[in-house]
Amino acid sequence: MRRADDRALLIRNARICGGKSETERFDVLTNDGRIAAIEPHGKIPNKDYQLIEADGLLVSPGFIDLHVHLREPGQTHKETIATGTAAAAAGGFTTVCAMPNTNPVNDSPEITRWMQAPERRAKVKVRPIAAATLGSQGEQLTDFRALVDAGAAAVTDDGRPILGDAIMHKALLAAKELGIPVIQHAEDTRMSQGGVMHAGRTAFRLGLRGVTAEAEASIVARDIELAAETEAHLHVAHISTVAALENVRNGRKRGVHVTCEVTPHHLLLTDEEVGDYDTNCKMNPPLRSEADRQALWDGLRDGTIDCIATDHAPHAAHEKDQEFDRAPFGTTGLETALPIALMAAGGECETAVRWLSIGPAALMGWKDVGVLRVGAVADLTLFDPEQEWIFRAEESKSKARNSPFIGKRFRGRVRYTILDGKLIDP
Ligand SMILES: [Zn+2]
Repeated sequence: MRRADDRALLIRNARICGGKSETERFDVLTNDGRIAAIEPHGKIPNKDYQLIEADGLLVSPGFIDLHVHLREPGQTHKETIATGTAAAAAGGFTTVCAMPNTNPVNDSPEITRWMQAPERRAKVKVRPIAAATLGSQGEQLTDFRALVDAGAAAVTDDGRPILGDAIMHKALLAAKELGIPVIQHAEDTRMSQGGVMHAGRTAFRLGLRGVTAEAEASIVARDIELAAETEAHLHVAHISTVAALENVRNGRKRGVHVTCEVTPHHLLLTDEEVGDYDTNCKMNPPLRSEADRQALWDGLRDGTIDCIATDHAPHAAHEKDQEFDRAPFGTTGLETALPIALMAAGGECETAVRWLSIGPAALMGWKDVGVLRVGAVADLTLFDPEQEWIFRAEESKSKARNSPFIGKRFRGRVRYTILDGKLIDP
């Protein structure tokens, strides 16, 4: 899409998260897609710039989501790259990592390139995470080098685990060569098969088959041993249990290169939220117990968990509107991530930004984004941490409406998202 305004962009009168500067006001000038200057308010003479009057909004590096499902190719009735990235922009995200469980599975450089082509009309940067094995069948590794050359940022079989010890070992070795992480959907499907929610009191009451915490923790423990042996980078997707978190914590103490992410819904909700078979609360991994939820908050605060990733998983209404056993797993998440991060951070903007931007960039080794400094890429988010708002289905940019947060009141709202120094059309 051609942009109407090709002038340099000047953001005036913004606050910067963190430190003593939080009450001071700054102006941020972008030029040629980079941050050209950050100066105390009023110091940058006004030339012919496109202006954003921030009026005290907080400016932060653009948010980065390491885990989204954009459903394209193949499932465009749920979401497209265009609509999914519009939701990302609305939520303050400037980079999203698209998972490979599309149809066909993204296990080739051709699909990886196709997902990034201008014809997809992405509103923000899309970094595909390609499949680790052909068809995500867990049998034969894909060509990691060709995938990385095509733009893939990492590999995973997300939606499924890389289950076999030998194939996971091979994947870690191949990924290490290229300096990318293997992202694991930690679920021992031999233990979880047929499970539709967390194995707990609510599952018992509803007569639903439960997924135990051990199904997650055992794979994380196995993977940490393999990461230790190979000295490769293991990233655990959407961690959800005390036991798995404890494994990561111990692995890190031993010096293993293991990182992990948590979703906003696991931070905010428990399995009780499933209530009377609410399919909008059916996720994989499932919503867990209150003890798990509290441990995830602790894990974020003590740094065991590196970042928040939404696991944005859109579905069509008719798919979610089925009996609980049949409905697909997943919730959308891009547009509601900021207020939930702020809540978990006790209102500390700097901390929320660490989880949404600085943390994910650091763990991926990206130097030019996730940072607010002169010379960095001008991917920026402007938000009001105090603004209260209600998440309304009809205002969502996503094609999908499957969220337990529809109609909920939140505090903290994204106001502008800037990509390469250009304001994204709302
Ligand atoms: Zn997953």
